[in-house]
Amino acid sequence: MATLSSPTSTHRPYVGRFAPSPSGALHFGSLIAALGSYLRARSQQGKWLIRIEDIDPPREVKGAADDILRTLEAYGFEWDDVPLYQSQRTAAYQAQIDSLLAQDKAYFCQCSRKQIQAMGGVYDGRCHRLPQTQAANVVKSGAVRIVNTAQVQQFDDNLMGHICVDSHFAAEDFIIKRSDGLYAYQLAVVLDDAYQGITEVVRGCDLIEASCRQLSLYQNFGLAAPQWLHLPLACLSQGFKLSKQNHAQAIDTLHPQSSLNAALAFLGQQPVETQGSVAQMLVQAVDQFQLSTIPQQSEILIEP
Ligand code: GLU
Repeated sequence: MATLSSPTSTHRPYVGRFAPSPSGALHFGSLIAALGSYLRARSQQGKWLIRIEDIDPPREVKGAADDILRTLEAYGFEWDDVPLYQSQRTAAYQAQIDSLLAQDKAYFCQCSRKQIQAMGGVYDGRCHRLPQTQAANVVKSGAVRIVNTAQVQQFDDNLMGHICVDSHFAAEDFIIKRSDGLYAYQLAVVLDDAYQGITEVVRGCDLIEASCRQLSLYQNFGLAAPQWLHLPLACLSQGFKLSKQNHAQAIDTLHPQSSLNAALAFLGQQPVETQGSVAQMLVQAVDQFQLSTIPQQSEILIEP
């Protein structure tokens, strides 16, 4: 059984967030993440911020960011501050990369996917170990990898308890800028959670292992890390999460009451009255919120 620690132990006023990628409309799985993070933040009298993670244009669906915000409104969610768009933050990402490269805390790598497969699937750091003369000749292009000195392998999750990842995964010099020029999620999420002053990250369990990489970056950058709380994932079958990629149905914006109660039930919460407005439903849900009744399961199967 996991130990549930208090999110106020950081002594910072609680700031939570919901960080959707605009790759499609909100579906039941993303409603869980929005609702879980909202209930947790508001039950701590905390702020709840929105960040649109729009730095992957090939995966972006035109109009999805606005659609997500309108859907959240239709469900009665109110956020603090204006939403932050990652596409507006690329100068900060690049400045961090430039500074790391200048200090030999990151390096270019041109190894192909095939080469990495031949290394056993985990990159072995060979481009960083190139002899000086060879390194000078390496074209300054390709992916950028962090020199992963922190190698965080474990952390305590406020719902799932003690999490430990594979040591090779923890030690990998992972990519912080892709060879196609796009900034990696791990870099952007850390710089932005720090920038927005997030004290606890509440999101789906699909990202639980990524938290170790993110903690490595916090250490490397000398930034205060948030706490973590990973929610069960809504899955159609084992290991098959409901997602935009597998065309999960968009949630109904005309009749949000039943989806809200279904999402509350998924999170182990009591149902709320459906006669009033959605805003009233959320107020009641915040009042009733109990962390201890959220199932400590990484996946929960739902009906399609
Ligand atoms: N943008 C990610 C997604 O939509 C979530 C990232 C996060 O919460 O850290 O799956």
